[in-house]
Amino acid sequence: MVDGRSSREAALAVARRLAAHGHRALFAGGAVRDRLLGREPGDHDVATAATPEEVEALFPGALTVGARFGVVVVPADGANIEVATFRADGRYVDGRHPDQVTFSDPPTDASRRDFTVNGLFEDPETGEVLDYVGGRADLSARLLRAIGDPEARFREDHLRLLRAVRFACALGFAIEPQTFVAVRRLAPLAADVSNERIRDEILKTLRAGRGRGLRLLARSGLLAVVLPEIEAMRGVPQPPPYHPEGDVFFHTALVLDRLDLSGAGPDECDALLLGALLHDVGKPPTRTTDPDGRIRFNGHDAVGAEMSAALLERLRLPGRVTEQVGALVGAHMTFPNLPKMRQNRLRRFLGAPDFPLHLALHRADCGASHGDLSLAAYCEERLAAFAGEPVLPPPLVKGRDLLAIGYRPGPRLGAILEWVRELQLDGVVHDAPEAVRRVLEAYPPDASESSGP
Ligand code: ATP
Ligand code: MG
Repeated sequence: MVDGRSSREAALAVARRLAAHGHRALFAGGAVRDRLLGREPGDHDVATAATPEEVEALFPGALTVGARFGVVVVPADGANIEVATFRADGRYVDGRHPDQVTFSDPPTDASRRDFTVNGLFEDPETGEVLDYVGGRADLSARLLRAIGDPEARFREDHLRLLRAVRFACALGFAIEPQTFVAVRRLAPLAADVSNERIRDEILKTLRAGRGRGLRLLARSGLLAVVLPEIEAMRGVPQPPPYHPEGDVFFHTALVLDRLDLSGAGPDECDALLLGALLHDVGKPPTRTTDPDGRIRFNGHDAVGAEMSAALLERLRLPGRVTEQVGALVGAHMTFPNLPKMRQNRLRRFLGAPDFPLHLALHRADCGASHGDLSLAAYCEERLAAFAGEPVLPPPLVKGRDLLAIGYRPGPRLGAILEWVRELQLDGVVHDAPEAVRRVLEAYPPDASESSGP
């Protein structure tokens, strides 16, 4: 990764070399938009009149990634600069890709881009902005507007439906009304976007937009298409004493807003966002109403954990994140049981590497409903009480200790080790000799196990 500044310098060097050989070269898309917004741009993409062959000839080591689309990746100063030939797109055939592209000029290239604020160019030498699509006015008005006829543009490329919500969140913009009408009308077309693309857009939407992102996905009609399990939470009522805030969906959006992600790494952030999104996904299918009208969601944690795993596998999330999220969802109702939990289980829960994630989700869950944080406080207290000693101390007895005194490897040995570990974590045994003595008493190595003749 290179920072925005060095990406700009690298792209500038590439643009200069193109210009020196008589090819017009401009910064395009996101970098221009972000600079005008006073934000740190991510990558600097270059749009040029040079053909891909000409670009390749000028930059040894350049790699054509999309020959058909005229995109060449040029390594420069540790950055990879995408250099794309000005183009016009042919007919879109599969709801995603044009059947052919022809090389063109900047105004034509601007008009094949998705949203006006993404359709700006910048002269890299002078900083002059070239605006053929009204992008600057929309930047000032903070509006995300499709370039040209919104319906036609979304029909061409169905991914743009999800990009509309994503950019509205990332930029904090409203979606222009005609553009939004088109998204709502054509939302069902998002069904044929690949799961990997859906995953990327949903994650970017949640990272940037949190609860707003979720609500916008719902209002646009996209949620029902790409995440029907989450759509099912809309309008599902909850018991008012615990959930004065409203239905399951509304609660979930609030939990997303309440999450404290400070200190979490990128994968942990994703796990927390997805954990918040999915923590109550088991509620719609488990909902029952008692004769007295009380609403229950028995087992929604376990059901939700299974649903989460299936959903995240479908979206091809990394296995580690899928596991973490499943654990977060499956354990989110554990908190009320902690005060009466035996020491060893409490220690295992509090001492697990992912416990901070569980606690962060729990805090957000409480904050987004009844507001009672006493169980979180209880965890903090217990952790403080364990302070000075590891919450999960190393085992007093290991397999090799028991093998050395005549036990045989196998399931029985595993069960014995587990048993004595529980005694240790419950504070019943305190040192290794005592632990071994307890094992010998309770589970003597049976005759078949003794290694002697
Ligand atoms: P980000 O900061 O997320 O990278 P970006 O604007 O650079 O934002 P990219 O997805 O990297 O977005 O695309 C670069 C540019 O290419 C966009 O600004 C837009 O002009 C154009 N573009 C990308 N995807 C599409 C698409 N599906 N349809 C039309 N134009 C697109
Ligand atoms: Mg980009």
